[in-house]
Amino acid sequence: MITPNNPIGKRINTQYEYLVLLVDDDPMVAEALRLMLEGENDIRLHYCSDAGDALNMAEQLKPTVILLDMVMPNIDGLTLLRYMRVSEQTQLVPVIALSMKNDAKLKADVFSAGGNDYLIKLPESVELLARIRYHSQCYIRLLQRDEAFRALDVSQQDLAASNIKLQQLASMDGLTGVANRRTFQESIAQEWVRAKEEQTPFSLIMMDIDFFKKCNDHYGHQHGDDVLCSVAKALEACSKRSAGMVARYGGEEFVVLLPGVSEDDAADVAEKLRSAVEMLKLENAESDVCEWVTISLGVATCRPGSGEIETEKLIKRADDALYEAKDSGRNRVVKASDGTNAGTSS
Ligand code: GH3
Ligand code: MG
Ligand code: MG
Repeated sequence: MITPNNPIGKRINTQYEYLVLLVDDDPMVAEALRLMLEGENDIRLHYCSDAGDALNMAEQLKPTVILLDMVMPNIDGLTLLRYMRVSEQTQLVPVIALSMKNDAKLKADVFSAGGNDYLIKLPESVELLARIRYHSQCYIRLLQRDEAFRALDVSQQDLAASNIKLQQLASMDGLTGVANRRTFQESIAQEWVRAKEEQTPFSLIMMDIDFFKKCNDHYGHQHGDDVLCSVAKALEACSKRSAGMVARYGGEEFVVLLPGVSEDDAADVAEKLRSAVEMLKLENAESDVCEWVTISLGVATCRPGSGEIETEKLIKRADDALYEAKDSGRNRVVKASDGTNAGTSS
């Protein structure tokens, strides 16, 4: 049955139930129509004798078709029809005008006011039934189509949200939540192009946790994972101030991308990162350099020349500086231009 909660109706014995609202001040007409519809199991008739109640009743009942008398006391059918076309609940409900007169002017007025059909009272039962079923079916299909569009809209929004989430997940490192290496490679390529256009310096810090194997061996792999997460968080918090992008480069190696930052400023950032990690005071009892977890960092800077080969060169120089930091005692920052690889600077 079609109810306010089930406005599209449900199938009863494979047929829809149609809900008819008859608005007519004449109870004789109502009785005649009731007799015509008697025994039609798919049609249910509701009757409203007072035009003043009709709009409210139509809004509550949600009929699939309205039979509307044109001549009633207090309010005439045409005026009521216009109200129905304004109300959100009834504006699409089919309205069949019921009139004693076969009047061309009245017919034209009914259709231009949004009426869907016009029947001369009293119609033959076969005609009345056919029109009730036809208009009700059209209306039900309209509601079903609207509902399907709404559902499609919702699922498209869900899909778009899932795609954004998926993109975020694909760009992130699963353990630490910072950008992954693929995202870093994409970002460095983009920033390189921008730096080339704007002729600004471009810095990169590569870092690696000192004696992390010993940390793992001593405290367990799970603890090692927690250390990686804490370090990543500290790097991210610290880099934010310089608009740096942190990524996990692999294992216990991280990178920070610093577009527009000179080598000296990048070295300052690197020193802050080093200090921030040490200040976390994450135990690494077996480390040869400190009782806490520490990192070694290499900084490389250059003005972009051209092409991908140069980003690779920048990464290589930062990596060389990092290994120089390792060789010279760990828990320190080395600038590429200060080290043995200074000769390779652009
Ligand atoms: P160094 O100071 O020379 O960098 O010494 P190290 O021990 O940090 O370096 P090494 O390359 O010998 O060991 C790195 C260790 O990092 C070994 C590896 O198991 C561990 N590791 C890499 N990825 C992960 C990870 O995702 N989780 C954990 N818990 N350990 C990891
Ligand atoms: Mg290491
Ligand atoms: Mg390593």
